[in-house]
Amino acid sequence: MVMYPKKKKTFCPSDECKKHTEHKVVQYKRGKEHVAAQGKRRYDRKQKGFGGQTKPVFKKKAKTTKKIALKLQCGSCKKIHQVVIKRCKHFELADKKVKKETASGF
Ligand SMILES: [Zn+2]
Repeated sequence: MVMYPKKKKTFCPSDECKKHTEHKVVQYKRGKEHVAAQGKRRYDRKQKGFGGQTKPVFKKKAKTTKKIALKLQCGSCKKIHQVVIKRCKHFELADKKVKKETASGF
């Protein structure tokens, strides 16, 4: 289990800052797939008509976890950069106070 702070002071790589600043942390989530994207259009056209599945469908899933990606937003320039942390089964964003409360609750 990984507990991660909601706010973190870390390096901002944007040209305006290039130094350690306060960052807001949000977990990255995959966005909605676009219906009109070129790859999707091409795939739909290929799938049309007879012939069944035309592209390989991934079936050899071996991993039980995913790498967690985080979006870090800089407090001063508002730019967002992403950081990937290690694989874990359970990930939680929490303030330090909340962490202590849950620890005593169990
Ligand atoms: Zn910045």
